[in-house]
Amino acid sequence: MADSKKKILIVEDERKISQVVQVNLMMAGYDCEVAADGEEGLRMALTGDFDLILLDLMLPKMDGFSVCREIRKTMDTPIIMVTAKEDADDKVMGLELGADDYVTKPFSIKVLLARIKANIRRFSGEVVERVAPREEAEDILVIRELVIDNKNFRVTKSGREIELSNKEYELLYFLASHVGEVFEREELLGKVWGYDNYYGGMRTVDVTMSRLRAKIEEKPAEPEYIITKRSKGYYIPK
Ligand code: CA
Repeated sequence: MADSKKKILIVEDERKISQVVQVNLMMAGYDCEVAADGEEGLRMALTGDFDLILLDLMLPKMDGFSVCREIRKTMDTPIIMVTAKEDADDKVMGLELGADDYVTKPFSIKVLLARIKANIRRFSGEVVERVAPREEAEDILVIRELVIDNKNFRVTKSGREIELSNKEYELLYFLASHVGEVFEREELLGKVWGYDNYYGGMRTVDVTMSRLRAKIEEKPAEPEYIITKRSKGYYIPK
């Protein structure tokens, strides 16, 4: 089987960094293209067929947040945001705009490669398979008004379609296929994201959970579908 190379878009204005990243990604077997400002990055993202986008936050012409927001209007290609400093607000804002993950400069190439691999794998559906092996996976899960169609990756509530990001979907599907079981955030990070614990990982779970709740719950502050069990974790009640 010809294993086609995964294609990565690097949006980065610092040439030294983009060169080092590009060389390392190519050595790791990826195809890479580089955009040196936000506008070019957005144009390339929308017209190219990329498997993942590595998006710097501070960019000339258009910042990374705006690029991310524009890409998310039409595409769900995995986006890893590159933040310049340990700024928790930047990370949370990036995740809220639809980025899948982030790395902080200066990052190690090893960490970057691991994140890229995990995000591409997750996007191609392998995590869903791992969460529920195909032969055991239910095609349709029904939780009161909520119908999760795992064949077509569609979720409806009272017949109305709900648009979920990949991670929101995987998180919902995972909990829905384990009704009544409580999962800690650490567990969810491992099962749904495929990560071991890492700095900021719990925040990733919380941000995705609040986005998911905002979409499926009538009153997200008083959730009926996904319940928080104080100091234990999250679960969908029987
Ligand atoms: Ca920059």
